[in-house]
Amino acid sequence: MGPAPRNYLAACGDGDLRYSSYDVLVIGGGIAGLTAAVGAARRWNVAMLTKAGLENTTTFLAQGGVAAAMGPFDSPELHFADTLEAGAGLCDEEAVRLLVEEGPERVRELEHLGTRFDRRAGELVLASEGAHSVPRVVRAGGDATGSVIGSALIQALISGSRVEVHEGEFVLDLLIADGRCVGALSLGPEGELTVSLARAVVLATGGAGQIYANTTNPIVATGDGHAMAWRAGAVMRDLEFMQFHPTALHSDENPTLLLTEALRGEGAWLVDGAGRRFMEGVHPLAELAPRDVVVRRMKEVMVRDGVDHVELDATHLACDFLRERFPTVHGGLTERGFDLCRERIPVSPASHYYIGGVVTDLWGRTSVPGLYAAGEVSSTGVHGANRLASNSLLEGLVFGDRVVRDLDRLLERAEPSVRKVKLDLPTESRRGNDQAATAAATQRLRLEMSRNGGIVRSRESLQQALGHLAELEAELQPPGCAATEFEFYNLLTIARLLLVAAGIREESRGVHLRSDFPERDNEDWQRHVRARLGWDPEVVAE
Ligand SMILES: Cc1cc2nc3c(=O)[nH]c(=O)nc-3n(C[C@H](O)[C@H](O)[C@H](O)COP(=O)(O)OP(=O)(O)OC[C@H]3O[C@@H](n4cnc5c(N)ncnc54)[C@H](O)[C@@H]3O)c2cc1C
Repeated sequence: MGPAPRNYLAACGDGDLRYSSYDVLVIGGGIAGLTAAVGAARRWNVAMLTKAGLENTTTFLAQGGVAAAMGPFDSPELHFADTLEAGAGLCDEEAVRLLVEEGPERVRELEHLGTRFDRRAGELVLASEGAHSVPRVVRAGGDATGSVIGSALIQALISGSRVEVHEGEFVLDLLIADGRCVGALSLGPEGELTVSLARAVVLATGGAGQIYANTTNPIVATGDGHAMAWRAGAVMRDLEFMQFHPTALHSDENPTLLLTEALRGEGAWLVDGAGRRFMEGVHPLAELAPRDVVVRRMKEVMVRDGVDHVELDATHLACDFLRERFPTVHGGLTERGFDLCRERIPVSPASHYYIGGVVTDLWGRTSVPGLYAAGEVSSTGVHGANRLASNSLLEGLVFGDRVVRDLDRLLERAEPSVRKVKLDLPTESRRGNDQAATAAATQRLRLEMSRNGGIVRSRESLQQALGHLAELEAELQPPGCAATEFEFYNLLTIARLLLVAAGIREESRGVHLRSDFPERDNEDWQRHVRARLGWDPEVVAE
């Protein structure tokens, strides 16, 4: 039971297709795609396709920083232990080992590339974040780490490297011929369709936080890469695990402003409406407990008090310090009429990081030959059932680099180019849905997911959500040829996969909370839920 398989989403008539050919095609320009493209371009002919501008990525929004064992009291061993502890029994230890051991070198390389990390008296400033046993998070521009790193990588991409960059190019589907991924089909800004053939494809399309009504993710995070990998037959894993960030500004904005965990690292408190701290006594790290623990407790307090948010209190911290240390958060709040120095800020959990993704091995190779995945779209196994704060930028760097090293090996021995291939694309013309209908359907989907497939789920709520999504789809025409329609269908695909996977995991673990199975069940569930095209869910013990 589950979503019907469909190999290709697009049916844009039988008009002219443009063809291009590369050694490496990188889809996505966040930290993972940039790392892969800049590295691969040292030897190969590389193209990068991004559906939005290069600065319109989740990477650019990252605030807290990059976790890496670089401090005098830290070690990869400690970082390893913290990552495993947060991951609630589901981390792949080999992948975590590589993450923590190769991470510091990747951060030093970023610095050589021009990233200016914050330093004091010549030493890197290291921030504290939830579930890290020592200050470990390297940051830049106070709380503007993502845009500082992203800008440095973009600079490297456009100066000196030979990458052909196409912004505003919406990738519809991966192209598969003879069981190999041989490129991608994309829709350009003027509605033109392009077939980009490549000897290897790197999928780096980021997350899918937009399947929920409250999210910190930018509007580009619609799970396109997850959905196209699924349609291409790649094995997917852990799709039930969506991490909700505890402290997003409680508002109707899309996306909503994140109040970085580093604020709690510097001493801000979580309090209820009466100003009482509620994390003390719940976990030894209080406000800095792992995110899943904090979110669970927030939910309890909200239910207890009959409210839909709690508050973040930084009023006891020095105002000059807050302004200088957190320019993004302070400025963002001021723009919205809040004063971080003088008032408690309303916060509630928002979808933030999709742990589920395309299964890769330790070199970023997926189950589809020729297809790599890196960054948030991938499932390398480093996050287990709950990502440790600031480990995802690191994952994009470490595994983006490992992809490059493997590409070098693969391309040395592979055929020099991809021949023109028979693609079997659907050629019928479809009318599709108008923009207003698509926008309304997208909003209904997001609200439904928040209501019935969100932080706390049960068999009943998950089934209701699946039923409502089926009704929603039945009201719509199959997609025509507009990017917003494809985004909606991608969201729908991933939402359903998430709901089905969440129904299969009959326990509560990490970020997955079942009201009907409230306990963690190591005996039956210390394992992954995997899925592949046609929804043939295997529950695989690893
Ligand atoms: C507000 C916020 C703060 C965060 N702070 C931190 C932090 O401090 N530390 C940390 O480690 N992590 C943090 N994270 C998580 C982290 O930022 C992301 O996991 C990471 O940046 C993802 O990088 P990526 O390269 O996988 O994808 P992204 O940066 O999301 O880039 C995705 C790219 O794919 C492209 N794309 C998507 N679909 C298509 C398509 N159909 N066709 C063509 N292109 C497509 C997009 O245009 C974009 O270029 C934060 C997340 C958020 C939302």
